[in-house]
Amino acid sequence: MLNHLSPICPYCSGKAKKLFSGKDYNRRVSKVIFHLYACEKCGLWFVSNPPDNLGDYYTEDYHGEVTIESLANSHSEKPKIDFLTKYKNSGDLLEIGPSMGAFCYEAKDVGFNVSAIEMNAKCVKFLNEQMKIRAVCSDNPAKIIEQEKLKYDVICMWHSLEHIPEPWKILDAVAKALKVGGILVIAVPNPNAWQIKIMGKYWPHHDFPRHLFAFPVKWLENHLAKYGITLKAVTTKTDVNNYWNRFSWGMLFSYFCPSKFPRKKEAFFHKGIKFKCFSKWEEKEGNGSTYVAVLEKQ
Ligand SMILES: [Zn+2]
Repeated sequence: MLNHLSPICPYCSGKAKKLFSGKDYNRRVSKVIFHLYACEKCGLWFVSNPPDNLGDYYTEDYHGEVTIESLANSHSEKPKIDFLTKYKNSGDLLEIGPSMGAFCYEAKDVGFNVSAIEMNAKCVKFLNEQMKIRAVCSDNPAKIIEQEKLKYDVICMWHSLEHIPEPWKILDAVAKALKVGGILVIAVPNPNAWQIKIMGKYWPHHDFPRHLFAFPVKWLENHLAKYGITLKAVTTKTDVNNYWNRFSWGMLFSYFCPSKFPRKKEAFFHKGIKFKCFSKWEEKEGNGSTYVAVLEKQ
């Protein structure tokens, strides 16, 4: 574990400055205080004291409950498909960290040949058996990609990169696994989010300590440049992003629920709350709470 008193960047060994110290406000697994730093050299944000028992912070209800029927009826991931198909509408697609596979389901439905790598065994069983999608169970996706040596037209990481220790290793692996002309779609919390100015350490997308890192877009571009991968588009303004703006406000209100409040009632807030008065700022391009970057291999 890194010493939070004098951390150096785990990516480039640069000097880092402290941004926030906060707890697991989202799931209240412990009262441990975690420290978030920004590297002054490469710009990466990192939690300097990730817990040794990180797995315990992914509570049993983390992945939620879905059925094939509920996926077929809800089409909750359609905004992601609408976004993706502007850039690529067929081919071999890999999703890393699909959870219960709502996006995989939609991607398969529109004709992609879908594979997945997921660390939760229950999710992988559902993907393989119910959804008939090739899913591999592993908490080391980089190793699986390197072993399989398969090539993909599309690789998607919808809010998984920030959860992975040493994320540069998975980026190296996916960069090599992309076909020329293939695209990498990365959705992550936005270190430039307007909401951070208002919510500070309580911003729900810090998600201490599950979010181990946050990535300035420039950091992604710099890291992937050596593979001939360039930024094609980035936005904080899609329907997908706007949901995460609302989610922040909903979660913030849930913090006022007593800790013994039934989780199901608390979950009411997770659907999000929209404050129209803030739209002017949080829905402005670049200011949203999350961004989606599309990177292409030349
Ligand atoms: Zn650094």
